[in-house]
Amino acid sequence: MLSQSQLLGLDQGHLVALDGQRVESRTAIALRQLQEAAHGAGFDVQIASGWRSFERQLAIFNGKARGQRPLLDSVNQPLCVADLSDDECLNAILVWSALPGASRHHWGTDLDLFDANAIDGHDLKLEPWEYQDDGPNAPMHRWLCEQASQFGFFFPYRQDLGGVQPEPWHLSFAPVSQPALAQFSPSALATQLQSSDIALKPQILARLPQLAEQYLYRISPPPGQ
Ligand SMILES: [Zn+2]
Repeated sequence: MLSQSQLLGLDQGHLVALDGQRVESRTAIALRQLQEAAHGAGFDVQIASGWRSFERQLAIFNGKARGQRPLLDSVNQPLCVADLSDDECLNAILVWSALPGASRHHWGTDLDLFDANAIDGHDLKLEPWEYQDDGPNAPMHRWLCEQASQFGFFFPYRQDLGGVQPEPWHLSFAPVSQPALAQFSPSALATQLQSSDIALKPQILARLPQLAEQYLYRISPPPGQ
């Protein structure tokens, strides 16, 4: 069971080191088993991004809100922050970046993966085309769609979930992430955001119940898993 601090990305006590990343301990064991099976199928499944802290997610979020990092729309076209209302800016950031404190990467159960046999990690952009059709990670992605559930993993950002951008690189370890979601406290998140220096704070706090519903509670494993 994860603590509220761990759920918010403020505590690392649940993590172990794996392939240069930090991952929740039970998730790491399951990922090792998945990696071995994938190896037999010709894939070198590696982690592009594992655990992420609240501070790191805050830096990403504020960088986009303040025009210091590129802000892209849902088809990867650049947006200009100055042209947007505060609510439009918030919506645009949340297309590709989680709200700090509400990222599943804080839990250590959720991982962005790629096939190191097919693409160098430095060239990876984590864009959908890399995982579709003839993209370098497409064969691995098709294999994961068939096999990952055997190891307890599912794709939380699938095509069939309205309002959330599909992320074919992002797998979640359900035996830990589902209880984590059940334990998650929106009021603890509100308290944490209130005391942080997050951009767009009034808009976020006013919309927090809706944001938690849209970006966290709507996400679940497919039926039967
Ligand atoms: Zn991810």
